[in-house]
Amino acid sequence: MSEARRVKPGRIFMGKVSRGGDLLGEITDVCTRERIQLGRVEAIGAVTRACLGVYHQQAREYRRNMINEPLEIVSLLGNISTKEGQPFVHAHVLFSDIKGTTYGGHLVPGTEVFACEFVIETFEGLELSREYDKETGLHLWDMKEGS
Ligand code: ZN
Repeated sequence: MSEARRVKPGRIFMGKVSRGGDLLGEITDVCTRERIQLGRVEAIGAVTRACLGVYHQQAREYRRNMINEPLEIVSLLGNISTKEGQPFVHAHVLFSDIKGTTYGGHLVPGTEVFACEFVIETFEGLELSREYDKETGLHLWDMKEGS
């Protein structure tokens, strides 16, 4: 069964990540600086190399794919919640190479920005923290009532 909670629109930020920055780390830093604990993020741009995770459901671990070449960020989509009281960015990305071949997955540290423009939209009225889920082995949203 699915669960949903109503949230209210908050602040909206537009920004860029400088060349050489770590894509996930820089977006997380913006959330920390601006005290963003709930929201969504999107970005486009380019990277000099990428590191993607794909969750192996049986082994219950992320397998990493390193792509050591310039790539376009075709699409980055993610959400922002908290884990252990800190902002936590969960983002998935689609990259394309010089021929347009695409690679996708879960964004992990190690993706180096060439240029990147992002939009962060914040939400209010809900605390959403990630807790360990033993069925999946993942840290999923705790949707407890009244939070
Ligand atoms: Zn993911």
